Amino acid sequence: MSSTDKSTAQYWHDRVSTLKPEGRAWIDGKYVNAISGKTFDDVSPIDGRVIAQVAECDKEDIDVAVAAARRSFEEGTWRLLAPSARKAVLVRFSQLIREHVEELGLLETLDVGKPISESLNVDVNSCATVINWYGEAIDKVYDEIAPTASTTLAMVTREPLGVVGAVVPWNYPMIISAWKVGAALAAGNSVVLKPAEQSPLSAILLGKLGSEAGLPDGVFNVVPGFGPTAGGALGRHMDVNKLTFTGSTEVGRYFLEYAAQSNMKPVSLELGGKSPVIVFDDAPDLDYAASVIAGGIFYNQGQTCNAGSRLLVQKGIAKELLAKLAKIASETTSGDPLDPSTTLGSIVDKGQMERVLGYMEIGKAEGAVMMAGGGQSREESGGYYVQPTVFAGANNNMRVAREEIFGPVIVAIEFDTEEEALAIANDTEYGLASAVWTADLRRAHRVARELRAGTVWVNTFDASDITTPFGGIKNSGSGRDKSLHALDNYTHLKTTWMDLS
Ligand code: NAD
Repeated sequence: MSSTDKSTAQYWHDRVSTLKPEGRAWIDGKYVNAISGKTFDDVSPIDGRVIAQVAECDKEDIDVAVAAARRSFEEGTWRLLAPSARKAVLVRFSQLIREHVEELGLLETLDVGKPISESLNVDVNSCATVINWYGEAIDKVYDEIAPTASTTLAMVTREPLGVVGAVVPWNYPMIISAWKVGAALAAGNSVVLKPAEQSPLSAILLGKLGSEAGLPDGVFNVVPGFGPTAGGALGRHMDVNKLTFTGSTEVGRYFLEYAAQSNMKPVSLELGGKSPVIVFDDAPDLDYAASVIAGGIFYNQGQTCNAGSRLLVQKGIAKELLAKLAKIASETTSGDPLDPSTTLGSIVDKGQMERVLGYMEIGKAEGAVMMAGGGQSREESGGYYVQPTVFAGANNNMRVAREEIFGPVIVAIEFDTEEEALAIANDTEYGLASAVWTADLRRAHRVARELRAGTVWVNTFDASDITTPFGGIKNSGSGRDKSLHALDNYTHLKTTWMDLS
């Protein structure tokens, strides 16, 4: 029996049975196959089944997409529009995303195994919000006149860079694409987006919706394919003016090399993290703190770059806080991602699941104490699910405390003093995010100032919206997504100096 009740799993399963995901690239305003004719299997981590054949684009396809983007940029069909006209198209694009919320949400859940309620309410919703926000912002950004002598007029104007190559990961495919595409398009650039091979489907639909909203042909192209081939070709392309990348630190290094080996295009990198969460004895409400800390590591199955994966807890409350966390972890069970009541879905693919399970073994072998979780779950589904896991009694030299696991695994280290907590927190190659829990305002300020990270949360975690910049330092990357500051990634400042004497 089919269901019309959207709060049931049946409704979403019924929708899947009629869904026909598009796997072709979106280039120059139309769907195209890879020039080679090759496709690859898109496997859903929900049950291990193939859900689509996706165009396996390579260098030749990237060349065509970049040429279309270049043509549109030079012709000025987008960049020369009045900001208010670009705004109107982006606002319409956002509306179309909202009108396709169910289809986009389903594609996202099928591709990466996120719970459907999160795909709908968080991923699609944020994507639409971000595109709308950059559209609304762009006709409110003013340029400058420099304070020069009265015989001179010196204007400082922002200009788009040209063709932007964006390469994104699979953990928040729509949101991260929107951060890059929204800001780059608003500024007047043309874009070639390469989604991750695990999550191409929502991006391909975004390409079509952008055109329907009124983006001229060639302005926004979506080219699916593998990293070293399609991603590498975009990175090394001589006619791409800017690279914006989110993904692993390892691949981020390649992008710097690609730029150096080609035309020295600027590169923005949003990379990995091992974010410390420091909890002092005087943290105001331990039940609340435990639930937020659990959300900060278990949300999205722990596949979040800024996940609070390193818990630094002061000795006086360690036992109590860890017991609360272990209880939450053992009560958080994986479910069918298409069931709207599910809060923990699947890991993105088999390889990533094996990596996470491998780290659980490494932690045990290193002598950390497993207080909850530690294994696979829902094996009968054919998909890739793991249990939320809490390690106690760790130290900062262990691999599980130093390396990014990218799964629902939190590693707790105990400390005595504020100085010790800060030293451990900052003893990491990463610098993406961090948090401090305390009732002492002076300590909150002190510690927040000393934490080496792009974001510090005080008595909260993962709170954010589009108004604040996001990104890291050290091996977590450089450049910032989100907020008006992200426009710096996609524009250069031109000085026009006029002699009026
Ligand atoms: P990944 O680096 O393997 O892949 C990311 C993208 O790069 C994909 O599109 C992939 O196809 C492409 N790619 C892979 N190898 C490439 C190569 N040799 N040349 C060009 N492109 C290549 O990362 P992932 O496994 O998809 O995502 C997980 C990583 O992303 C984690 O490390 C996570 O912390 C990071 N991440 C960071 C942020 C942030 O904002 N800092 C956000 C989300 C994810």
